[in-house]
Amino acid sequence: MKAFKEGEDYDPETGEFHLAHLICNANFLLEYYKIFPQGDDRKKNHFSGIKIGLDIDEVICDFIGSYTKRFGLPKDPKCWDFDLKIKENLESLKNDTEFYMNMKKKIPPEEIPFEPHCYITSRNCPKEVTEAWLQKNGYPNRPVYVVGPNESKVQAAKKSGIDIFVDDRFQNFNELNQAGICCYLLDAPHNEMYKNVRYRRISNLDQILNPKVKGVEEEKKKEVVTIPRGSVRFDN
Ligand SMILES: [Mg+2]
Repeated sequence: MKAFKEGEDYDPETGEFHLAHLICNANFLLEYYKIFPQGDDRKKNHFSGIKIGLDIDEVICDFIGSYTKRFGLPKDPKCWDFDLKIKENLESLKNDTEFYMNMKKKIPPEEIPFEPHCYITSRNCPKEVTEAWLQKNGYPNRPVYVVGPNESKVQAAKKSGIDIFVDDRFQNFNELNQAGICCYLLDAPHNEMYKNVRYRRISNLDQILNPKVKGVEEEKKKEVVTIPRGSVRFDN
């Protein structure tokens, strides 16, 4: 910008037009601002107080394990709508405190590499039962937002002020990202069919803070195509 202001159009070293270079770099920053907020390394960024929200069932809690055991269904279903009777079964479990309190941990609290800002869940039991399960199992005592079954989590996410969310259900993942909230999809047999998730699919929570483990870096390598200046490109 400084060189352009002084009247120079092209960078003498690279031959690039200064303004085009500037716009290109600004677009990189704009894209990263949206897709990789945790990589914001400015001295003062809105992200310095990272706020990550977590879904509960199939992220930190083994809901499907308890559910399939209870109703004699095969373990690890390959899609989310795996049970024709799920609606009535969930209704029958609504006040079954024992069922919810005895669920096993999926990601134990000691394996969460940050303090969650909140939890957002669409489970069908009273909020107090979820809070009691979190306390019993040693998870941080953070606010729990409950939305109705099959309802969007977008409003709750916006209200909570989170920067990032983690969910296992593709529909939630998709809705949140479309609403401008960076959401990661935690790997699960029931979401494996969604191949276009790319680097926002994670297999553990460490990958949110250290994307070099898997994801962003691999995708970047795939996407960078260098065409030497002045060369002719032949598509093959
Ligand atoms: Mg879930």
